[in-house]
Amino acid sequence: MKIVEPSFEIQHDLDHSSILVRLEACGRVCYKSEDAITEQSAIPFVTRIAAHGHNSMLELAVVSFEVTCHPDHVLELLSCHPKFLVIDRVDNGMLVTGSIRAFRELYKLHFHNQLVNDLIFVLAAKEPYLFENIFDKDKALEKDAQVGIKKLSLQEVDALPTKLRLRHRYVSVRFTVNRAVSHELVRHRLCSFLQESQRYCRYGQDRFDNQVTFIRPVFFPEGSKEYALWVEAMELAETCYLKLLDTASPQASRTVLPNSCKTELIVYCNLAEWGHIFQQRTAPAADPSMRQIMIPLQQEMEKSFR
Ligand SMILES: Cc1cc2nc3c(=O)[nH]c(=O)nc-3n(C[C@H](O)[C@H](O)[C@H](O)COP(=O)(O)OP(=O)(O)OC[C@H]3O[C@@H](n4cnc5c(N)ncnc54)[C@H](O)[C@@H]3O)c2cc1C
Repeated sequence: MKIVEPSFEIQHDLDHSSILVRLEACGRVCYKSEDAITEQSAIPFVTRIAAHGHNSMLELAVVSFEVTCHPDHVLELLSCHPKFLVIDRVDNGMLVTGSIRAFRELYKLHFHNQLVNDLIFVLAAKEPYLFENIFDKDKALEKDAQVGIKKLSLQEVDALPTKLRLRHRYVSVRFTVNRAVSHELVRHRLCSFLQESQRYCRYGQDRFDNQVTFIRPVFFPEGSKEYALWVEAMELAETCYLKLLDTASPQASRTVLPNSCKTELIVYCNLAEWGHIFQQRTAPAADPSMRQIMIPLQQEMEKSFR
């Protein structure tokens, strides 16, 4: 068995990648198949996963638009109850931010809505693979000539006034933590997540060095009797898991794996929600295993996005 420290990484590099590259990099965390990434792999991977209904992968990239329009158009968009878009009124119109999933599903339900049509028109022209079988330019409504739609660059989002930037700037963080911490993280409903799947990953394979990886517990100092007992429990769990794999699937065998098992997950949300998460998860009442990772992450985030 392997014992590792918990860690995190703010995914700045993905902010400068294309949407397809970003979605593939995040999606492959589920299968731990990052080594299969090549220059050509993004389109087949992303379209296949989307076709299988693994839709949360499509939440891991957001797009922001500045819409120049009459106030009636704002009401028109709001009439669709777009729960998963961030919308703010600004001079001459509105700012709209949403994930690829949010825009795809909005269009499927509200293709007759002029503003939804116009937003997807612009988005599908930039990201055609992500709207195949959903948007057909030839069957879509004519674009409204009175509405101006401009996709914002990351630099433009970063230059927004603070109140707007907090809501429209999304940041993804990749965590390597234990399954107890990951379970607490996924309670934050305004985030999107992708997580290493114990159903698909078979830790008895060479690519996992035929072993289970555990996160070193913050609670027990190495050399203590509690630490020795913890190691004994992990060894037993690993032995049982690997033995079960001889005759059972990973999803059946994982039933013996404990909370200390290592997992990787990506958490993606706007800066406002990160602020909310830090408020809860760095407080003295929070789980020490959570604080161990959240306090340094908050410090790094403040440096990066002040
Ligand atoms: C110290 C601590 C102890 C905890 N103990 C327990 C426990 O024993 N058992 C347990 O089940 N959970 C527990 N939790 C989890 C906790 O109850 C929350 O589910 C979790 O922290 C997510 O926070 P949230 O609900 O504020 O925000 P998020 O899900 O991050 O949402 C952000 C904000 O959006 C709004 N929001 C989101 N969804 C809704 C909604 N459906 N309706 C209205 N407003 C919404 C709220 O304003 C919310 O603050 C604990 C958390 C902490 C920090």
